[in-house]
Amino acid sequence: MALPFAARLDNVETSAIRELFKLLGKPGIISFAGGFPDAAMFDVEGLREASSHVLTHAPGAALQYGATEGYQPLREQLVQFMATKGVGLAPEELIVTTGSQQALDLLGKAMIDPGDAVIVEGPTFLATIQCFRLYGARVIAAPVDSHGARVDELERLIAEHRPKLVYLIPTFGNPTGATLTLERRKRVLELAARTRTLVVEDDPYGDLYFGEPPPDSLLALSTDVPGSRDWLAYCGSLSKVLSPGLRIGWLSGPAELLAKATMCKQFSDAHTSTFAQATAAEYLRAGRMPATLAHVRAVYAERARAMCDALRKELGDAIAFSEPGGGLFVWARLTGAGGKVADAGVLAKRAIEKGVAFVPGAPFYATEPDAATLRLSFATADVDKIREGVERLALALCSHA
Ligand code: PMP
Repeated sequence: MALPFAARLDNVETSAIRELFKLLGKPGIISFAGGFPDAAMFDVEGLREASSHVLTHAPGAALQYGATEGYQPLREQLVQFMATKGVGLAPEELIVTTGSQQALDLLGKAMIDPGDAVIVEGPTFLATIQCFRLYGARVIAAPVDSHGARVDELERLIAEHRPKLVYLIPTFGNPTGATLTLERRKRVLELAARTRTLVVEDDPYGDLYFGEPPPDSLLALSTDVPGSRDWLAYCGSLSKVLSPGLRIGWLSGPAELLAKATMCKQFSDAHTSTFAQATAAEYLRAGRMPATLAHVRAVYAERARAMCDALRKELGDAIAFSEPGGGLFVWARLTGAGGKVADAGVLAKRAIEKGVAFVPGAPFYATEPDAATLRLSFATADVDKIREGVERLALALCSHA
C-alpha cells in the first residue's frame, strides 16, 4: 500500500517513549515511566454518584449534542474552581476542551502556519512538541534551570525568532517538575505584553502541591500586569486531579482566540462529551473537589518523598536531582560518578532487564537533547514498590550489559 499521506506527517515521528512502553507489558515490571495518575486514587464513588445524579435529573441535556463552547453548568463550575485559585473569569471566558491536549491542538490549528516559530521550554511535554510540529512549526527550545524557563533567554529568543507563541508549563512542569518563581512569572507577563507575544500557560499539575502552594498562575497574576491578559492563554485539566478518562480540559484566553478555537473545535469533535461534562459539573457542584485534592496531594507527597529518599540512598552521587514541590515527576541527571553509565537511554534498557522502567529525558527536548537526563514518575507505584524499583535501578546502574 502506498497511500498518499499529507506531507505534514513528515514533521513528526512516533515517539521513542512509545517504543519503550511496548516493553512495559513484561510481567513484574515496576513502572516509573508513565505520565498517568494512579487509578487506585480515582474517586469512583463520587463519580458514580455524580453520573447517576446526571442521568436522573438531566438525562436529556447530558446525552444530547451540546454547544461547542461547553456545557454551561460545567463552565460555571470551572469558573468557581478557578476562583479558588485567585482567577476571576466569566463562564464565557473559557471553553471546555477534550482534555487540555485538545486545547493545545486548537491553539496549534488556530495560530501556526508552516515555518512559524514557537518557543517551548527545553525540555517540555513531548506531545506539545509533536502537536505543534504537525502544524509545521519550527519548535525552538528555551533553556531552563531549576526555577523553570530563563526569562532572559526567552526575551532573546522572542527578539530573534518573533514566535507565534511561547508555550510554558510554569508549575511542576512535565518533565522537569520545576516551578517558575513569582518574580519570573511577572517578568514573563511583562514580556508578553511588551513584545505582543502570545504566552500559553499549560497548568495540569498546579493543584498537586505537597507543602506550600506554588505561586499564583500567570492567569491569576495577569490582572497585575497591564496588557498581559490580551497575550495570555491558559490550559486547565481535570486529568491529573480527578480522572484523565473523563477528558475534561479547558482553554481560557482573549475573546478573539476563544472564538477561533471554538470554530476549530466545531469541525474537530463538535463538542466534548456532554455526559462527561455534566458528570464533572455535578462532581464539582457537590463540593467533592477539596477532599479529593487533599487526598491526592497527600498520597503523591508521600511517594515523592519515598522516591527521593530511595534515590539518595541507593544511587548516591551517581544521580543529581532536586526534590519536586508537586506534580508527578522527579527529573534527574546521571552524573557518571564512579564510572557508572551516564546515558539514560542505555540505562533504560538495562533497567527493563532488572524489572524497572523509566523514560529517558532526550525525547523531551525539541533541540539538543541532554542524554544524561531521565524522568521518573512516582505516581503509580506505592511506597514499597517505589523503594524496590529504585533498588532495581541501582542494580541496573551497576550492571555492565
Ligand atoms: N499538558 C501536560 C504538560 C501534560 O503533562 C499532559 C498530560 N500528560 C497534558 C497537557 C494533557 O492532559 P489531558 O489532555 O489529559 O488534559
